[in-house]
Amino acid sequence: MNPLLTHDGLPAFGAIRPEHVEPAVRAQLESNRKTLAAVLAGGERSFGAVVEPLERMHHRLNRTWSPVSHLNAVMNNEPLRSAYTSCLPLISEYQTELGQNETLYAAYQQIARHEGNRLDASQRKLIDNALRDFRLAGVALDEARKARFKELMQTLARLQAKFEENVLDCAAAWSKQVTDEAQLAGLPQAVIARARATAATRKLDGWVLTLDQPTYLAVLTHATDSGLRRELYEAWSTRASDRGPQAGRFDNTAMVEDILRARHEAATVLGFANYTEFSLATKMASSPREVREFLEELAAHCVPVARRELAELEAFAGARLEAWDIPYWAERLQRERFSISDDELRPYFPLPRVLEGMFAVASQLYGVSFRERSGVELWHGEARFFDLANAAGEPLGGFYLDPYARAQKRSGAWMDECIGRLELESVRELPVAYLVCNFLPPVAPRPALLTHDEVVTLFHEFGHGLHHLLTRARYPSIAGINGVPWDAVELPSQFMENYAWSEEVLPRISGHIDTGAALPPEMVRRLKGSRTFQAGMRAVRQLEFALFDLRLHSEYDPARGSRLPEILAEVRTRVAVVRHPEFNRFAHSFGHIFAGGYAAGYYSYKWAEVLAADAFAAFEEAGVFDGATARRFVDSILSRGGSRDAMEAFVEFRGRKPDIQPLLRQFGMAA
Ligand code: ZN
Repeated sequence: MNPLLTHDGLPAFGAIRPEHVEPAVRAQLESNRKTLAAVLAGGERSFGAVVEPLERMHHRLNRTWSPVSHLNAVMNNEPLRSAYTSCLPLISEYQTELGQNETLYAAYQQIARHEGNRLDASQRKLIDNALRDFRLAGVALDEARKARFKELMQTLARLQAKFEENVLDCAAAWSKQVTDEAQLAGLPQAVIARARATAATRKLDGWVLTLDQPTYLAVLTHATDSGLRRELYEAWSTRASDRGPQAGRFDNTAMVEDILRARHEAATVLGFANYTEFSLATKMASSPREVREFLEELAAHCVPVARRELAELEAFAGARLEAWDIPYWAERLQRERFSISDDELRPYFPLPRVLEGMFAVASQLYGVSFRERSGVELWHGEARFFDLANAAGEPLGGFYLDPYARAQKRSGAWMDECIGRLELESVRELPVAYLVCNFLPPVAPRPALLTHDEVVTLFHEFGHGLHHLLTRARYPSIAGINGVPWDAVELPSQFMENYAWSEEVLPRISGHIDTGAALPPEMVRRLKGSRTFQAGMRAVRQLEFALFDLRLHSEYDPARGSRLPEILAEVRTRVAVVRHPEFNRFAHSFGHIFAGGYAAGYYSYKWAEVLAADAFAAFEEAGVFDGATARRFVDSILSRGGSRDAMEAFVEFRGRKPDIQPLLRQFGMAA
């Protein structure tokens, strides 16, 4: 029996082999197609006869596919990767087929019309979401438009991939040989050692610096040689453009125009005025104007603070600072003010202590308990499994924790769905999550020691995990994080981060590895100071990106083209405080919006931060462990998943719409 087709209990990670992947996916897709055909042939158009079987079949496909994409991310190897990659087109073809299925669309429309009043609110929301997604996939278009829409989607996929490729190729084609060690002064030893090794591999003397993010950031932050900083800054900020050391070689200028033109046309084919409206159709924010006003209101508060911070930094440096000087001087000022290093912090945050404290926080807030389960099949000896139960001891679900960095594991940290919650008359399944991090592995006999950054990351992913596990939604497509708008999905995770900074919580999650002592108050003070350090300058940078992205996609006009340089210049005049040199071409490598999923959505970062800070403020007002507030938070937000409009849910919890003041306070910028 193929272990990927056994859908009871937890995945049999010990038994899954790369050769199981494609046959399982093909079999599951075939079975789903049969189910769909039978459902549609059946003729009955009711929630129970159409939607429930479809929810079950999505659930089964996810049970087959989730362990595969998980293993591909945490235990990558060549046979697995090729099995995984070979299934991607199969799945995307299946999804397109579903999204374009007119009979199915008509069935959902009929259910909405005839049964709408008898459905409960979450069932109606599920149907509304599905109808919206059908329309966004172009199902309601006439044949000519449908064909054009499909063509535009394919063009966009190709252009966006090429955009990213140009950025990577341009960076890979650049390097700098250094033969005078003095030029490397200030750089961390690890960076110097790597530059040495790169030179050796290329059979060159001295050191070779490459244009990757860690090297770039290390040079900008630590190199005392301002000439070296400027050189890397120029190479980095002109990637894939018409300027800089590789001007014109990998130029994305035309690509950007083509991408914006295709997006605009695709949006108008679907009946939207511009691509921003299309992007917002699935988000919590309701209109381009609302987003713009939101960003401008934040900017009005942050710009004066950022200007002050820059003036202060220049006074400290005793000079007018160029763009490539700022990270370097900021680092020095921060060290002088708050001097607190990761090496000082690590001994206070042994992983077992942090986990125990974090679970205690969740128990106190939500009345849940955690118990590690042994004997669970795992993909690696470092992974663990925890069961989650409610106050009455009834099981709610569980999660895997895979904490340490290792080869074959994707970088970063994330929460992903292993099993979604499903509750139908015939079947009931509890949610299961993966929490994956890349912490420094322990050195025996000591446990892993975390930096405070890593503690915050753990709380963040745990927040996503609680969103997935505390859901009460009965259908997988609206349970946990599913169906939650992109600009609201980071609310529970960023909310949870606040606990890792709380003075009430820090003593419970810290305990010195040798003495057991909690983090001393003086270190707490310095740690918290570093959180708000130059918050204004960091915020205006994000606002610059967000406003640029928003205006570019809202104001696109086929007759005039993108007007990218003009819009960027206008945005910078309003919100930027750093003086960007004329050659700066940051947009040419802005993959978030030109290659990734953040197009007309970059504002989501700030939007979710505001939601999270405002939600946490409700707890600060009542006490960070206030039981009534926590119950309301679970009832209105954590348990709801995508079963309810995100703004309505927020208003139900907070009694009003989101307010930016708590975020400003959090970063020491309140009026
Ligand atoms: Zn997140």
